[in-house]
Order: sequence, then C-alpha cells, then structure tokens
Amino acid sequence: MDYQNRAGSKFGGGGVASQSATNADRRERLRKLALETIDLDKDPYFFKNHVGSFECRLCLTVHQNDGSYLAHTQGRKHQTNLARRAAREQKEGKGNDTAIPGLLAGVQPKRNVVKIGRPGYRITKIRDPGTRQNGLLFQFQYPEITPGTVPKYRLMSTYEQHVEEPDSKYQYFVVAGEPYETVCVKLQAREVDRREGKLWSWFDEDSKEYWVQILFKTDRDERYSAVPGLAPGQK
Ligand SMILES: [Zn+2]
Repeated sequence: MDYQNRAGSKFGGGGVASQSATNADRRERLRKLALETIDLDKDPYFFKNHVGSFECRLCLTVHQNDGSYLAHTQGRKHQTNLARRAAREQKEGKGNDTAIPGLLAGVQPKRNVVKIGRPGYRITKIRDPGTRQNGLLFQFQYPEITPGTVPKYRLMSTYEQHVEEPDSKYQYFVVAGEPYETVCVKLQAREVDRREGKLWSWFDEDSKEYWVQILFKTDRDERYSAVPGLAPGQK
C-alpha cells in the first residue's frame, strides 16, 4: 500500500497516482461507514491523546486515525481482551443482567470414537460496551483433543435437537471436539448477531482452550431485521 503512495508522489505517474487515490477513497468510505455504525463516544476504551492519535485503553495500542482504531476493535486482540476483562469482572461479581443459560446436557455420542468425558467449561455473561448488546462468552478446555483437531460449534434450533421435547423458547449451542463428548448449552431463543466481530470462535493451540463469543441482537435490531431489504446494522 505505502509504496504505491510513495511512487505516485515521486513520479507523478498518472496510473499509479490514480490507483492510490482509489485506495484512499475506499479507505475513507470504509472509515465513514464504520463511524456511522459505531459511536466512539460510547466506547469506554477509545481515547484521543495529546498528539492527536488514538489509543485503545484496553489493549494499550496506538492508532493513527479513528478508522484504524475501529478496525482494531473488530480484530482478535481487542475482542480477546474484551472477553478476558468480561470474564474477570464476572468473577469479581460485576456481571450484567443477561438471563443465565440453562442446563449443560450431554448429547448422545457417536459410537465410533472412544469418548473421554466432557470438556471443562466456563460461561461468562458479557456486554458489548459500544452497542450494549448482551451476550455470552464460552471457554471450553480441550487439553487432550486429538492432535490437529479444532473444536467446532453450532447453533441449533429446538426442532433440530432430539434430546428434549421441542420448546420454541430455547435454542441450543453445541460444541464438539473429539475425543471429548459433544456438549450442549441451552439458551434463550434470542436472535444471534452473526456479523463478523460479533460472533466469533478461536481455538488457542497453546492452552487448548476454545473460545466462542455470542452477542444477541438488541430488541431494536431484531425489529429492523424483520423489515425486507434492510440489513441489520444499516441505517
Ligand atoms: Zn483494543
């Protein structure tokens, strides 16, 4: 990216210059779009320092402009730190008021693998500081997972599962990682925000911990998403 800008300004070559202008345009459009959908004033970690750059107070990173800060907030580092902080606050009793998920029930294992029991787990109630969306952070421990295997999760409607009588008030969050038993967490049937950065999973190969974050749509977004042609998050 940068070498295009340098080449353009040095030689004034029409082709190169217009290419970098196009990239700049695109970045600017993306930046504006992000700023329309995210209100930085409500972000407790956003900080403009005395030299005019932007800092993330959560990750202690510095960014040249608000657009690059926003990109950072959607990245793995920031999301992981958010999740860790939420987990710590939960431990200290500063959690929010999301309804507690229901039972953790075992699903019938497949017969072709010798199962070694359920993974350890922790579930933390979280809230996105920007959008005030409530959600859950799942952490599963798979210390003896089959080498080369990454756990997988799936959200299932009540009608797809065969463990309990269907009840439309609930949905199921299912996680598999062999040779562990597949486990299932029963959740309220609220609509999950599937946008990138909202719904994500990550397997930490070193600690063998599997993280999944779910954020539920706000009541407002759920109403809007029912309007044809209006995608969630757009204005
Ligand atoms: Zn950050």
